[in-house]
Amino acid sequence: MYSVFAAFSFCAGACVASFLNVVIWRVPRGESIVSPPSHCPSCGAPVRWWRNIPVLSWLALRGRCADCKAAISPRYVIVETLGACLFLAAFLNAVPPGAPVSPWTLLELLVVWTWLSLMIAGSFIDMDHLLLPDFVTAGGMALGVLNALAVSAGSASFGPALASLAGLACGFGLMWLVRFLGSKAFGREAMGSGDVWLTGAVGAISGPAGAVAVIILSSFAGSLYGLAMMIAGKTRFGRYAEIPYGPFICLAHAVWLFCGDGLWRWYAGLLGFEV
Ligand SMILES: [Zn+2]
Repeated sequence: MYSVFAAFSFCAGACVASFLNVVIWRVPRGESIVSPPSHCPSCGAPVRWWRNIPVLSWLALRGRCADCKAAISPRYVIVETLGACLFLAAFLNAVPPGAPVSPWTLLELLVVWTWLSLMIAGSFIDMDHLLLPDFVTAGGMALGVLNALAVSAGSASFGPALASLAGLACGFGLMWLVRFLGSKAFGREAMGSGDVWLTGAVGAISGPAGAVAVIILSSFAGSLYGLAMMIAGKTRFGRYAEIPYGPFICLAHAVWLFCGDGLWRWYAGLLGFEV
């Protein structure tokens, strides 16, 4: 039975990500996400449902439109595979084999799935347009706070709600400070305001410790990427504004969600603490 649920999670992730491909393309362009139905951008032919199966259709058609044979970007299949793997990872993380499943476990899983979906959409929109839409940033904050309120009500404790609000304030406040100091140091905007809001959402979902960890991890990942780009000659020192930072925040938060405990123990071990 466990493997059935795991397989379901994988397929659900692929299907949700297939829809996210539509969101990533259309929402920043102000287009409707329901009409017109999916069509080939080259020849306009509608995509029949049996050719709209995530990952498999793209592989079966060898990445080409069935009607005009125009190439379809491999990014569609990359986003779908990413969604499938992340949904499966969230399931394995939330429901370890043999562990009892409560309604709270399922709520937690749904919240993480929703947040992963928002992060996928936000990351790719940021890469394309250098902006993070409100439905990702404000949506993530609302998701984190509402979930914490529900858990607080269910456990008759203020703890989770307070942790979520403290995390939101911490993530937003610290990233605001980083942006402020960075802008002073470089004499130009060091990052977009969307990155500050996004870190607030990370804190609302994972609390203050998660927010701090994500700021540190994302700055490492972002610096490494910036350095790699400089070495490759694609950018010059100081031109940070052209690198979208949202994907690094999302990557760092996914790492924290799935490996946070292990990372924490490893780091505490480095400092000589027992956790
Ligand atoms: Zn076509």
